[in-house]
Amino acid sequence: MIKLNVIGDPIMHSRSPKIHGLVLSEIGVDFEYERVLVKKGELSSYIKSAIDGGVDGFNLTMPHKVDIIPYLKEIDFDAKIFGAVNTVKIKNGELYGFNTDAMGLILALSQNGFSVKDKNITILGAGGVSSTIAMKFAIEGASEIRIFNRSVDKAREICEKIENVKAEFCIKTKTMFGGFESAYIAEGIKNTDLLINATPLGMTGVDGDYEDLSFIDSLKKDAMVCDLIYSPPKTKFLSYAKDKGHRIMNGYGMLISQAILADEIYLEQKLDIGKLFTNIVNNS
Ligand code: NAP
Repeated sequence: MIKLNVIGDPIMHSRSPKIHGLVLSEIGVDFEYERVLVKKGELSSYIKSAIDGGVDGFNLTMPHKVDIIPYLKEIDFDAKIFGAVNTVKIKNGELYGFNTDAMGLILALSQNGFSVKDKNITILGAGGVSSTIAMKFAIEGASEIRIFNRSVDKAREICEKIENVKAEFCIKTKTMFGGFESAYIAEGIKNTDLLINATPLGMTGVDGDYEDLSFIDSLKKDAMVCDLIYSPPKTKFLSYAKDKGHRIMNGYGMLISQAILADEIYLEQKLDIGKLFTNIVNNS
């Protein structure tokens, strides 16, 4: 039996046990997956108890994604470049860190027939997830990335981060950033192939939603529209895009894909991602 945890503070809201449960049950693995409340500063004692208790790996959420780094024997490329870890494998008493978040989105997009290579991509929002997916899109060969955000400085910082590693990773992506005004976004997305909502606007339990979505009218007809939100399954943002004839995708596929990738790491086994994705996402 494989023993897994998700750690964080708060932790009771975490959907990880359910999501990993779907994946591990689908592949027929005997597992135990528990939420563990670990407060900031308590990582060291948690790690000791996890190793002693035979835990095989754990997912991390706030506030540990960065603090875990000094405890790792090795860190994978994505986790290193994002400066954040969401998956830790424990092997022979040593910790190995990974980040499957952004690759989860790349996989979900590819399952929906979209490759980011040579594409012009616009991200609305410049928080934690925007930062990781923008960097991943650049590394995966997007031709242009535009980021629009309420706090323009945060959008600028993400673009600068990409610009700073361009030479090191042979990145050719052009970057551009701007404010969150509807008219400004409308002007900026005319050549976009993929428009992503990476803000919590429209999410269940969050106050606030897009008041004016008419900027979507200026998208090319074949542009794809993605909302990283999965609750509700179809936000106002996605409904508007669908009504305008765009292909749409919500955040559920990303959520499932990053879990499948983490489970590959825990099990040290290549999984049939396409089959799992179809069985879980399309049947949920
Ligand atoms: P975050 O770090 O808190 O960033 C939130 C972003 O949204 C910031 O850029 C913020 O702008 C902007 N924002 C918040 N309220 C806004 C408002 N009222 N008007 C305009 N902009 C607003 O959050 P995150 O971790 O990046 O997550 C962003 C979204 O992605 C959330 O909806 C989350 O649920 C979703 N997500 C989905 C998955 C998945 O697996 N599907 C994974 C991770 C995240 P400022 O910078 O101006 O504050």
